[in-house]
Amino acid sequence: MQLRPFLLLALLAGPTVSAVAQQAPSAPRGPQWLNADSTKRTNQSNFRALEEWPAPNEYRNAAGSPGPKYWQQQVDYVIRTTLDTVEHKVTGTERMTYHNNSPDRLAYVWVQLDQDIERTDSRAALAQRALPRNIPEQARRFLAPEPVTNGGYTIPRVQLVAADGKKTDAKFFRNGTQMRIDLATPLATGQKAVIEIDWSFIVPEGGRNGRGVREKVRDGWLYEIAQWFPRAAVYDDVNGWQNVQFYGQGEFYLEFGNYDVSITVPHDHIVRATGALMNPLQTMTATQRARLATALAGDTAVFIVKADEVGQASARPAGTAPITWRFKAENVRDFAWASSKTYVWDAAGFRYQPGGRVIELHSVYPRDAMPLWDKISTKAIRQTMITYGRLAFEYPYPQASNVHGPVFGMEYPMIAFCGARPRADGTYDKSLEYALASVTIHEVGHNWFPMIVASDERRWTWMDEGLNSFLEYYGSLDFDAAWPKQTMRGPARNLTNYMRAPNQVPLMTESDAVYANFGNNGYSKPATGLVMLREHVLGEETFDRAFREYSQKWMFKHPQPADFFRSLVAGAGEEANWFWRGWFYTTYANDQAVTAVETQSAKELIGSDARGANYHRFTFQQQAGLVMPLHFEVVYEDGTKETIKLPADIWRNNEKEFVYGFFSNKVVTQVTVDPAEAFVDVNRANNVWKAPPKPIS
Ligand SMILES: [Zn+2]
Repeated sequence: MQLRPFLLLALLAGPTVSAVAQQAPSAPRGPQWLNADSTKRTNQSNFRALEEWPAPNEYRNAAGSPGPKYWQQQVDYVIRTTLDTVEHKVTGTERMTYHNNSPDRLAYVWVQLDQDIERTDSRAALAQRALPRNIPEQARRFLAPEPVTNGGYTIPRVQLVAADGKKTDAKFFRNGTQMRIDLATPLATGQKAVIEIDWSFIVPEGGRNGRGVREKVRDGWLYEIAQWFPRAAVYDDVNGWQNVQFYGQGEFYLEFGNYDVSITVPHDHIVRATGALMNPLQTMTATQRARLATALAGDTAVFIVKADEVGQASARPAGTAPITWRFKAENVRDFAWASSKTYVWDAAGFRYQPGGRVIELHSVYPRDAMPLWDKISTKAIRQTMITYGRLAFEYPYPQASNVHGPVFGMEYPMIAFCGARPRADGTYDKSLEYALASVTIHEVGHNWFPMIVASDERRWTWMDEGLNSFLEYYGSLDFDAAWPKQTMRGPARNLTNYMRAPNQVPLMTESDAVYANFGNNGYSKPATGLVMLREHVLGEETFDRAFREYSQKWMFKHPQPADFFRSLVAGAGEEANWFWRGWFYTTYANDQAVTAVETQSAKELIGSDARGANYHRFTFQQQAGLVMPLHFEVVYEDGTKETIKLPADIWRNNEKEFVYGFFSNKVVTQVTVDPAEAFVDVNRANNVWKAPPKPIS
């Protein structure tokens, strides 16, 4: 619509408007946009389209869905591995079947060698920053890891297996934590390559990896084995080969495939792993199999190995020879396992519908973790199934395991490693229950993001840690409605200090380039932003529908950041460019203020008091950089109150200042911006206006 200029002038010249103009605070000077660079003379509105998003194509469409030509590779593994508990060594041989579903011919396959992060000449070791002046006890393992001797892989054999089964040595070379294996002939679309690799490594006790470690507890050694075998790097339509080195912070990004893994361990060990156990007859006693059947028939935890059975010969099948535990897993993007003679084991069944498919929930932990793990772990896994099932999708795998050890929190498909241990005398504070419940919900929750909705963790931490922390927040509240809110990632007020911090980087910063405040950046900020988006921008029903659609259409696929943003836009019917831009692409903060409250006689203004005797004008400003909805509470002279909630759209014509007008018979005595602390306001000193005279403060 366009108004003819003379009409507009006639309107503006009216006496009422000029009277208002005298009272109104001066309009903001300079460009209307909050963060405008006046030298640019371009559209710098926070509401403008996101030019950062890549153009949609046949692989990823403009509505954030996989396109008609979406493809991804598949890599299947058959692995035989042995744990040597004298040398603390894992030795393995793997046969990798690489299916090329891409439109490209591939002359080689890149493989990730994550254990090579433990080499003294690894990029992570060489790039290690000097230690800070003080290191808190809990941070020591990460900041000042014990030097690992003999870290990294020994790889005696890499061979190509021809269609007729003939094996030939492959040409390969290692570059940091990557290894390139040249194929005999380039692999065409639809073809597969079979590669065999032998390898071994010493399981470190600490180290910079923190994944794949051992620890000696009261009853002996326990082993958490992860990122442990040479794994094919992702080849995708966005970046080609995933060639980001493993520095430790950016986790991993892998192809989906099927696994058949045989793990040979000492006779007295119990093993939990990704996948379904294929040989319970060889690995469990008759009593244990009967207890497991009872556990799975119900929904509360039953001990498979009781605390007083740990170390007893009766708790293992007859004999003394090493036992091979065989697991198979379908459509997973990784495989991890844990093994120890120290494990207590409890399990329960879970069903989404009565009489439906049984999902096995398992917890294994040394006696050092009791009491606590027996009370919380399996219950927390169960909660994860429920909350994540409701907000994203039902858990598709046959089992979920939680394992206690030195790793405080790390996730792999169907298996999580969690810390939280009582004091040596068995006592603990209530806060430890929350710590174990939250880390369990979080790590088991990672099955959804990124194990199934398989984003590129080595680049975008927020896509897995952020989305997962967001769901963890609701899982925690479902687990215990009295959960102490000040400990959670999700409530806006808990993010205030971070949003004031000088050393922030935008969420759209690659994982290993986030140099400080990693937890607040990768976890808290995205989680808090999504809570705000759900509860205060889109509304729960609209958000949940769009979020479920995103989650379900990217199950077992590789979404990129724009796929998430576009999915939510399409699913919710809301562009929200201001939100994606402000929250994900900038470090702008939110500082809303009420700067003036004025009143005028309605009769004088419009010649009638039918709509209320007084016309009020409230002036609000955005004084930092972030556009957000505007919520404010009005208190009247008679003591009544009302809360008015305005959408972020109010800022679209002027991002610095908004004047809100309304009629009322009442007299305003106080206005408070964001009374419920729904948004992260970095300066609340300017959030309240009180009628004069101001009380002496
Ligand atoms: Zn996480």
